[in-house]
Amino acid sequence: MKSVTILGATGSVGSSTLDLIERSPEAFEVVALTAHRDVAKLAAAAIRTRAKLAVVADETCLEALRAALAGSGVEARAGAGAVCEAARMGADWTMAAIVGTAGLKPVMAALEAGGTVALANKEALVSAGDVMTAAARNHGTTLLPVDSEHNAVFQCLDSTAPDRVSRIILTASGGPFRDYSHDQMGAITPAQAVAHPNWSMGAKISVDSATMMNKGLELIEAFHLFPLRADQFDVVIHRQSVIHSMVEYVDGSVLAQLGSPDMRIPIAYALAWPDRMATPCERLDLVRVGRLDFEAPVDWRFPALALARDALSAGGARPAILNAANEVAVAAFLEGRVGFLEIAAIVADTLARYDPAAPESLDAVLAIDAEARAYAGERVKDCVL
Ligand code: NAD
Ligand code: MG
Repeated sequence: MKSVTILGATGSVGSSTLDLIERSPEAFEVVALTAHRDVAKLAAAAIRTRAKLAVVADETCLEALRAALAGSGVEARAGAGAVCEAARMGADWTMAAIVGTAGLKPVMAALEAGGTVALANKEALVSAGDVMTAAARNHGTTLLPVDSEHNAVFQCLDSTAPDRVSRIILTASGGPFRDYSHDQMGAITPAQAVAHPNWSMGAKISVDSATMMNKGLELIEAFHLFPLRADQFDVVIHRQSVIHSMVEYVDGSVLAQLGSPDMRIPIAYALAWPDRMATPCERLDLVRVGRLDFEAPVDWRFPALALARDALSAGGARPAILNAANEVAVAAFLEGRVGFLEIAAIVADTLARYDPAAPESLDAVLAIDAEARAYAGERVKDCVL
């Protein structure tokens, strides 16, 4: 039996993880489940899986959680500190699926606790990649990528010859607006942006996919996961989302991982690794897919990608600022306060205005994150919709 904790259990990735675990109750034992404030969903999952502990990050939800769990035997706790304590309870396997910077401290707590951390929270590696990977090394923690592209690369990497890899090619669907004109992009609404053509995901990552900031964050994530130089990572638009990424070797061989666009496939790989487990996911029918298309991303349409590339090359605090400003801009877009094209502009202006020294600890990253949010927040106020 593998003991499992899910941070962000009520979200898209968290729910997919629960789905797999609940199909194999003989193989998994749930230690803790956490959520922001979705008490009903969290309590129902904790009761179904007989979790030891359920945690809501929002302290005002504690009484509601206690009431929902009354008589179930599941302990209820609340607060950001309690989320980190849940991460430290020492499960064999922890899914880190909180969205955004809110996940940084819980990811660090899980990395320090040892065992295996399956990482979906890409923002943790973008903002604090050096600090996070050092913590994994120092505590002997196995860090497994859940993001479908990085999971694909991980599956294609020949661990006996890491220095024989010449290039990593991340595929991108290009999101729902990959064929839009500039004018059309200016008029995109939040409802259009959260409806991804291939994947069903949380709101923030859906908007990130539409701007292609998601692929930019993934370039930085890949840089921290795989031992290549920044210029050895490429992005290609592949609208069918069938090839999830590729690894090119020095001899010219290219290995790819393919599958239906269902996050349960990479999650299952991380859950069973180094073994594999069966999933109910739709089998890939290549004849029905018919063709696989590839194209280069168009620069004017996806300025966020270039911003992320520059942040990766510059290093230091740049990726943390990029990530913080993007979170503020995406939240403002989802609230209808700024237009779609302003997301990248807000990120660019924040990067132009704020240039601190490289952070050397998680606290330093969080201080830069807070400052960058303040700059981005001021910039949001300048946008009148
Ligand atoms: P989501 O919005 O569906 O779920 C987010 C989860 O985090 C929820 O359980 C929520 O309760 C919790 N949460 C939110 N704010 C919190 C806070 N302040 N404190 C504690 N918990 C909080 O998001 P998602 O789509 O599941 O994505 C989760 C992470 O995985 C993101 O970093 C995303 O980039 C990454 N990811 C998602 C997918 C996908 O298919 N959805 C694919 C690859 C990577
Ligand atoms: Mg991805």
